[in-house]
Amino acid sequence: MHFASDNTGPVHPKVMEALVKANEGYAMPYGADPGMVRVTQTLRDIFEAPEAAVYLVPLGTAANSLILACLSQPWETIFCHKTSHIQEDECNAPEFYTGGTKLTLIDGAAGKMDPGALRSAIAAEEGRGVHGPQRGPISITQATEKGAVHSLDEIRAITDIARSFGLKTHMDGARFANALVHLGCSPAEMTWKAGIDAVSFGGTKNGLMGVEAVVFFDPSHAWEFELRRKRGAQLISKHRYLSAQMEAYLTGDLWLDLARRANAAAKRLSEGLSAVPDIRLHHEVQANLFFADLPRRLHRRLHEAGVEYYLWEGDLDGPDPDEPLTARFVADWSAAESDTDALLALLAPETV
Ligand SMILES: *Cc1c(COP(=O)(O)O)cnc(C)c1O
Repeated sequence: MHFASDNTGPVHPKVMEALVKANEGYAMPYGADPGMVRVTQTLRDIFEAPEAAVYLVPLGTAANSLILACLSQPWETIFCHKTSHIQEDECNAPEFYTGGTKLTLIDGAAGKMDPGALRSAIAAEEGRGVHGPQRGPISITQATEKGAVHSLDEIRAITDIARSFGLKTHMDGARFANALVHLGCSPAEMTWKAGIDAVSFGGTKNGLMGVEAVVFFDPSHAWEFELRRKRGAQLISKHRYLSAQMEAYLTGDLWLDLARRANAAAKRLSEGLSAVPDIRLHHEVQANLFFADLPRRLHRRLHEAGVEYYLWEGDLDGPDPDEPLTARFVADWSAAESDTDALLALLAPETV
């Protein structure tokens, strides 16, 4: 019963097969492998962006940081949600790779920046001339760190503000596929048609061993990205193994299929949990991740049974058995219905 994260699960067998196949013979290094030509073309097709610059890196932190470095200057500030991965989970890698660009933190429900708060924060910068931070790009996460999915209108509201100040917008799509299948729109609609300039296109959390794509819709960033990727020690020499994973992921819509499975597993789990009177979900489940408050006694029961998930806030050993403590549950593509049902069976005595 593993619901801690979507990187605790296995690599999809088709991806392993592709790696074995890629392991035959020789291929040119550093992204000059024939597989990368195919991956580039496929991603351009998927995004309906024939000019897009496409790259592969092994980590989402690298994708985010290197993109943001290309979209900003060190004297600028990046506008992002206060719970964003780039703020909370990258050990200041964005600040490091950008050479010191600041982050300006914006609040808003469910990991989405409140547009009014964003506009005020941008307006408040550049009031101090040469002394203060200059306005830089905006970064949003789709799906958010709270498991919510921005609607196309919500993305547009953010990018409209960006445009009105002449700023670029990056999308951290570590869970891009999970958000996309929820919205049921096209990748182009969720990105450049909604005003997004560059995407970190996740793969690792959705069945790959370790690959994320970087997509710039404006190819003028290409050479700078290549230089930054090499200097940032993220240009893998045996690159064909990255290409092979991404190619398998995109073949036959495997990426969408895996995201649908993960989302369905999260939905099944959340619906079961909602039926327990003392459990309260923070938000309606949209992707494959959600937060819920459970009384301490139920957390203890799950922990004793070996269920893996993050106790996000609170202390398992506190005195009051009924005090609600926050849990984060994440389902990955491989989550078995039997595991979900086994978890729910542990709570069955509480269900009405
Ligand atoms: C997991 C994740 C990443 C990438 O993390 P890495 O460990 O660097 O691959 C980026 N953004 C979000 C929102 C994530 O959840």
